[in-house]
Amino acid sequence: MVDKLKVLFLSSEVVPFAKTGGLADVAGALPGALKRMGADVRLVLPYYRLVREGNFQIRPVLRGLKIPLGGETLTVNVLETHTEDGVPVYLIERDDLYDRPNLYGSAVGDYYDNLERFSFFSHAALILSEALLFSPDLIHCHDWQTGLVPALIKGLYGEPSTLSGTPTVFTVHNLGYQGLFPAGKLPVTGLSKTEFFHPEGLEFWGKISLLKAGIVYAQAVTTVSPTYAREIQTPEYGLGMEGILKKRRSSLHGILNGVDYGVWNPATDSHLPCTYSPRKMEGKHRCKESLIQEMGIDPSFTKKPLLGMISRLDNQKGFDLLIEILGEILELDVGFILLGSGDELIQKAIQEAAMRHRGQVGFEMGFDEPLAHRMMAGLDMFLIPSRYEPCGLTQIYALKYGTVPVVRATGGLDDTIVPFDPLTKKGNGFKFGPYKADAFASAIRQAVNLFQDPRVWKKLMANGMKANFSWDKSARRYMEIYRSVV
Ligand code: ADP
Repeated sequence: MVDKLKVLFLSSEVVPFAKTGGLADVAGALPGALKRMGADVRLVLPYYRLVREGNFQIRPVLRGLKIPLGGETLTVNVLETHTEDGVPVYLIERDDLYDRPNLYGSAVGDYYDNLERFSFFSHAALILSEALLFSPDLIHCHDWQTGLVPALIKGLYGEPSTLSGTPTVFTVHNLGYQGLFPAGKLPVTGLSKTEFFHPEGLEFWGKISLLKAGIVYAQAVTTVSPTYAREIQTPEYGLGMEGILKKRRSSLHGILNGVDYGVWNPATDSHLPCTYSPRKMEGKHRCKESLIQEMGIDPSFTKKPLLGMISRLDNQKGFDLLIEILGEILELDVGFILLGSGDELIQKAIQEAAMRHRGQVGFEMGFDEPLAHRMMAGLDMFLIPSRYEPCGLTQIYALKYGTVPVVRATGGLDDTIVPFDPLTKKGNGFKFGPYKADAFASAIRQAVNLFQDPRVWKKLMANGMKANFSWDKSARRYMEIYRSVV
């Protein structure tokens, strides 16, 4: 048993309070796993409109805390709630910054003041920690939104602050979001130009990069799979950060995300019309029938392969490949369902396909957690042709639901999916290497062919459902890294 390590855990999204992607799943589950290992973890999150409207049990803890923003000082109230694991979550209430329809921006673009919003959040988290007399042994920050914190600890929160010298761990969930802002806005952060705005600091091609601040100034940097940790040190995947990541490689660790089987488990999932488990699989077929009806797919597809995706509509996710091969794939007499929101061009292309192939293609635009669960259960195959994928959670959920992943061999997809070998009957999915439409189509064809043999397909589903990606193993790795920095 380890003694109580105090961890301040900063994330801009946390399940079940506010979510746009995998970061929220991680921040919702990892603190609970760390707590079970004996750590005292406290989360901090902005009090978004989504949280306000979310019907959570919330109580005020601090009023009128003074937080700097550029040359000004603003006051905030701090509220408290808990995750399902009983981890305290402190909410920073400042309506002019966080009471908005979305977390980061709208379909038109990011909010114009995101630097102000997340710089303020970073300062507020630290000041709040001091005000609550919570002296963390370390601070764990996630993605660009909290990338400023390791720099702040070095800069402003030097002596005599109680936080001075506190070690920081920074986790990169997606290198594609770099938190870039014009150099002229540096005063918003409160950091000194001479000390921080240079190529060895948070300057990135003439701009401020909050992601780079995290990478440069944290004691340890982690990312969410071993393969992605290697990939991001190369020009192909490094998006310009490969140099700095290579430099930090002795402090860079790839730890595969776990998943929360309390939330993602077909045996207990309350969103499903019918639950099922490896030993009682009938329910999966009922879920498929029900999904087909819900999405307006022709009932004849209950006996044919049903493919689908749940994803942000973003170039990262391989939609150009999907759009290129969709016509060809539909000729294999399969159904296809997509749940997603984001890029308008991708949206339009899928909408057109859904119109052209009415009864064969279903498209639900938007963010819909219950539908995501129903799809996990009702689909036969789950497609993830990502250009890059730091970890990817949906393939891991899909495995648990007996929905066979067809993925590109990149990042965490490569680490979690093992191609099925019909001879040995080992493996849990289908994988393709080059980022090419014909490679993707060929992997889908293999899957569709195998689907025609129900006995082998059952074995493949069973292999996936057996896999265990619960958080405990990964949490242990985080604990090791925490111990190495304190
Ligand atoms: P990323 O973080 O890059 O978006 P991940 O696979 O790590 O990708 O995590 C995505 C998470 O967001 C999963 O939990 C997935 O189910 C969820 N998700 C993505 N798009 C939607 C959507 N439109 N509706 C509901 N859930 C979604």
